[in-house]
Amino acid sequence: MSQPAAKEPTIAAIATPAGPGGIGVIRVSGNNALAILTRLFVPTRPHANLESHRLIHGWIVDPDSQTPVDEVLAVYMASPRTYTRENVAEIHCHGSYLVLETILDLVLKLGAQHAAPGEFTKRAFINGRIDLTQAEAVAELLEAKTRQGLQLAVNQLHGRLHEKVESIRDQLVGILAICEVAIDFPEDDVDILNPDELTARICDEIEAPLTALIASADQGRIYRDGISAVILGRPNVGKSSLLNSLLKEERAIVTPVPGTTRDTIEEYLDIKGMPVRIIDTAGIREQAEEVEEIGIQRARAKLAAADLVLLLVDASLPPASDDISLFTSITDKPVILVANKMDIAIQEQAMKDIAAAFPTITPVPISAKTETGIDQLEEAIFTAVARQQTPQNPDHACVPNLRHKNALKMALTACQQIKEGLANNLPADLIAVDLQAALDHLGDIVGKTTTEDVLEMIFERFCIGK
Ligand code: GDP
Repeated sequence: MSQPAAKEPTIAAIATPAGPGGIGVIRVSGNNALAILTRLFVPTRPHANLESHRLIHGWIVDPDSQTPVDEVLAVYMASPRTYTRENVAEIHCHGSYLVLETILDLVLKLGAQHAAPGEFTKRAFINGRIDLTQAEAVAELLEAKTRQGLQLAVNQLHGRLHEKVESIRDQLVGILAICEVAIDFPEDDVDILNPDELTARICDEIEAPLTALIASADQGRIYRDGISAVILGRPNVGKSSLLNSLLKEERAIVTPVPGTTRDTIEEYLDIKGMPVRIIDTAGIREQAEEVEEIGIQRARAKLAAADLVLLLVDASLPPASDDISLFTSITDKPVILVANKMDIAIQEQAMKDIAAAFPTITPVPISAKTETGIDQLEEAIFTAVARQQTPQNPDHACVPNLRHKNALKMALTACQQIKEGLANNLPADLIAVDLQAALDHLGDIVGKTTTEDVLEMIFERFCIGK
C-alpha cells in the first residue's frame, strides 16, 4: 500500500454514539491534530506538555470567546503509533451530545474536515497499518450479535485471514518466479516449467488451502450473518407467546383474539453463538379478513426469505386441516414442528393425534406460557441449521465473508486454467498470465489490487467516527 499521504486533510468526528453517556470522545486525525488540540485545550497543570500517548487533564476553552466548554481528558498520539498511523488527538469529554457537538464545531472551525463513515479505518488501511480483511473485521466487530460472531471478527482483526491469504500468495509468487525464468529462457522452458511438478504444487500449495478457506466461509456463515427463522401457524396457536418466551421479555402483544398480530416482528436471539433473526408473522390463513391482508402478504415474503420455519400447532386442540396444509406447503426449507400449549393439552392423546396428522416429523412439545420445552426448541433450531455449518473450532476459525469467498473462487478457477495450460504445454508467458490472475484475485481480498469502488462500498458500511 501507499505511504501515509501527508497532504490528506485532517479529519474529525464524534467517535461515541449519540445520546447521553458518561464519556464522549472526539477523534481528530491528520497533520494538524496537535495544532488544533493545542488551540483548544488548556491543561490543568499550566506547564503540562502534550507529550505523545499521555492522557492529560484540563479544559476545552473556546479560543475566540475564552469560554470554558467542558472539563476533559485529552491525549495526543504522534504518528506512526496510532490507529490511522497519522497524528491523532482525542478529547474525552462528558458524554452530552451538546458538549460533543460544541467541541467538534470548534475543531472543524480550526480547519479539520468532518470525517466520512469509516474514514479513520480507511486511513489505517491506506497507510498500511492493517490490510483490507482487518479493516472489514473492524466493521464486523462493531456489528457482531453474538460472542461467537465477535470471536470470528477478532480472529480476522488479528490477521488470521490475512496470514492465510498471504501465505498462498507467497506460494503463487514462487511459482510465478519459475515461470519468469522460463520466459527468459524460452528454448528450455519445458524443462524449467516441469509441468508435472508445477501441477502438483498448484494442487497442494494453492488449491488445497483455497478449497479449505472456501469451505470455512460456508461453515462460518451462520455465525457471521446468522439465520432467519419464521414462526408460522394459525391464529391463536401461540406465536407471539412463543416469541416472548424465546426473547424472555414481553415484546410482542399477546391477546386471546385471533389475528391480532397484524404485522411481523423481528428480533435477534443468540442460540449457542448463532444469531437467529426470529420473525413472528400474522397468522397465515387462506380466508383472511381485509385488515390482515397486508400482514399476511408480508408473512409470505418473510417465509420466502427465511432459512428455517417453526410451524406452531395448538396441541390442546385436534390438528386442523389448515395446520396440515401449512406443513405440506413448505417444501423447500427445514421445518420444526412445535406442539404448543402442552400445559393444557391431554399430553398422550395430543402427541398421538399429532403423530397421526404429521407422520413424517417429530414434534417438539412446549408450553410458551409456562416456558417448558424452550431449551429443547433452541437445541432443535441449532441442530436444524448448524449441523453441517459449524466450524470445527470457532474460537480459532478464520471465516472469509462473501466478498472474500467470491475472490477465492475466482483464484481457484485461475488455478484450473493454470493446470490446463501446463497439461497442454502452453508457453510460460501464457501460464504466467493465469498465475498473475490468481495473484490478483487474492490481492483483492487483502486490498492490494482492490478497486476504488469496492473500497468505497466496504467503508460505507462503517459508522462515522470509526
Ligand atoms: P398467536 O395469535 O399465534 O400469536 O397467539 P398468541 O401468542 O397471541 O396466543 C393466543 C392465546 O393463547 C393467548 O391467550 C395466550 O395466552 C394463549 N397461549 C399461548 N401459548 C400458550 C401455552 O403454551 N399455554 C396456554 N395455556 N396458553 C397459551
